Amino acid sequence: MSEYDQIVKILRQHGERITIQRRLVIEALLATHAHMTVNDVNEHIQEKKDVHSLAEPTIYRILQWLKELELVSQTDMAESGIVYQIIGAHKHHHLVCLNCGVSIDVADTLFDDMRERLAREHGFHARIDHMAIYGYCSDCASEDS
Ligand SMILES: [Zn+2]
Ligand SMILES: [Zn+2]
Repeated sequence: MSEYDQIVKILRQHGERITIQRRLVIEALLATHAHMTVNDVNEHIQEKKDVHSLAEPTIYRILQWLKELELVSQTDMAESGIVYQIIGAHKHHHLVCLNCGVSIDVADTLFDDMRERLAREHGFHARIDHMAIYGYCSDCASEDS
């Protein structure tokens, strides 16, 4: 089953309808598997000559809908803006340097202890989909001291 079919299956299980607009946004996110801003999604859709373009507020609403269904993550990546991404098998997070802007990928297992502790101590089910942690990279931190 393709990734698109899997997503459609989940949406149907939630009783959601797949409109043309929704399909276009999901396909755009799956086509790149990268971080995408609303504008990136829009550009990707416009590249297809056979379809009508979508208004950015429509794209934004669809992304929020997918986020609520836990299919898409929304992350503020500082200089890169707010980015969206399908929450797939390659779950990861970022360390973003406030000085030089470098972004370092970190594994999701980094948050295992935190998730476990939040559940144990607060009964809280943390949803850490795609996180950006701000700070200073090793180069910039050593420059500073
Ligand atoms: Zn990422
Ligand atoms: Zn840096």
